[in-house]
Amino acid sequence: MTPVAFADLQRNVRACTLCADHLPQSPRPVFQISRTARILIAGQAPGSKVHESWIPFGDASGLRLRDWLGLDRETFYDAKRVAILPMGFCYPGTGKSGDLPPRPECATAWREKILRELSAVKVTLVIGQYAMAWHFGPRAKATLTETVQAWREYQPMLWPMPHPSPRNNIWLKKNPWFKRDALPELRKQVKAALV
Ligand code: SF4
Repeated sequence: MTPVAFADLQRNVRACTLCADHLPQSPRPVFQISRTARILIAGQAPGSKVHESWIPFGDASGLRLRDWLGLDRETFYDAKRVAILPMGFCYPGTGKSGDLPPRPECATAWREKILRELSAVKVTLVIGQYAMAWHFGPRAKATLTETVQAWREYQPMLWPMPHPSPRNNIWLKKNPWFKRDALPELRKQVKAALV
């Protein structure tokens, strides 16, 4: 794809209204990409705060994620180095137990096309069950915890991660090995990928 075609692709995604009828508000796709990005953050879908601010991970989850990666804000939001591509680009709304899943139309319509262009990526963070289902397919384990626990199996490119949301504080308490064993290795790889 030429640079012009890549810019057109981004424009088309920004103008997308494919699943507008299912969204609680007008579509406002949130993502950050460039063809030189070395790190890819494959997340779920923006929450309401991110929908408002239009800043990916511009909330408490972002603070924790940057800490996990050992990245400052400037690097994290440098599209030339870090791509942020959730499974659904628009806020899907809230259900009884938190935010609804990413709209499935989004990945079907856009994901493959965009990922094909991100050929400089060295490390992909696969955050949450929907991103795991897409990126790992049959290699995903029965549960998110089992998949994250098996992080060594997906090396060197892919990192299964729990969502950094404060909602996951209990998960993090129950699984101290994640901070102790996985995060130091992840930070090392992120640093090496950005050199
Ligand atoms: S969630 Fe994705 S498919 Fe739906 S309107 Fe937004 S960009 Fe389009």
